[in-house]
Amino acid sequence: MLVSATEMLKKAKAGHYAVGQFNINNLEWTKAILSTAQELNSPVILGVSEGAGKYMGGYHAVVGMVNGLLQDMNITVPVALHLDHGSFEGCYKCIEAGFSSIMFDGSHYPIAENVEKTTQLVNDAHAKGLSIEAEVGSIGGEEDGVVGMGECADPNECKAIADLGVDFLAAGIGNIHGKYPENWPGLSFETLDAVQQKTGMLPLVLHGGTGIPADMIKKAITLGVAKINVNTECQLAFAAATRKYIEEGKDLQGKGFDPRKVLAPGYEAIKATVKEKMELFGSVGQA
Ligand SMILES: [Zn+2]
Repeated sequence: MLVSATEMLKKAKAGHYAVGQFNINNLEWTKAILSTAQELNSPVILGVSEGAGKYMGGYHAVVGMVNGLLQDMNITVPVALHLDHGSFEGCYKCIEAGFSSIMFDGSHYPIAENVEKTTQLVNDAHAKGLSIEAEVGSIGGEEDGVVGMGECADPNECKAIADLGVDFLAAGIGNIHGKYPENWPGLSFETLDAVQQKTGMLPLVLHGGTGIPADMIKKAITLGVAKINVNTECQLAFAAATRKYIEEGKDLQGKGFDPRKVLAPGYEAIKATVKEKMELFGSVGQA
């Protein structure tokens, strides 16, 4: 059964580790992430962007697939199904469809409007038992057409949004989505520290986990990051493994064209990436 992400992230913050949010795109992705979480006895958050939700046929299809896998695979570790970078309307669609967690990305609204919309969503999400993430300070890079500049969040704005009752907060600290450029200056730990001092025990979220060096990830966890989003890294691993299979001509040998064979190396590559991240984040054995 799906659970909200509130308890697992409170526990993570108190225990000084982070829970990974791994974005899903299809059945293989979802199975790979769930089976790895179960094998490692780790809590996990399945992230779904609005674009990925649409790709998979819609939010009801996503909820049906995930709930079916939880049952058929006998998954017993805590699993949250979370809308990633949701619009105001998208959040309501996911609440209705049966998600257990939502993120409202109101970072492009003026602060007053972000506050108003977040307040309404906090009330409606909590009434149905969902957890809710909000974002302050837009996160750089591009994710499904959402483009940010990688700015650092204003700690006072973080405090204002935290006080609305959100369960965890994404604060821009120089992180970006996708691959990091050569001249990336790194995470702003000064900002992270200032945000944590204002928001106390509220779990903080680090978006754009792909390509951030391991020592920076560990330091961010010591400063209150309890949820780390990983998306691009699984995509790169899946694509590389699939490319290798095709380039080696394996699809032309015997029944190598069977889709279950074609997709197998990518599936294993996602599993390996998820395992590596769960070990780095410290969530192994914490279910
Ligand atoms: Zn993000």
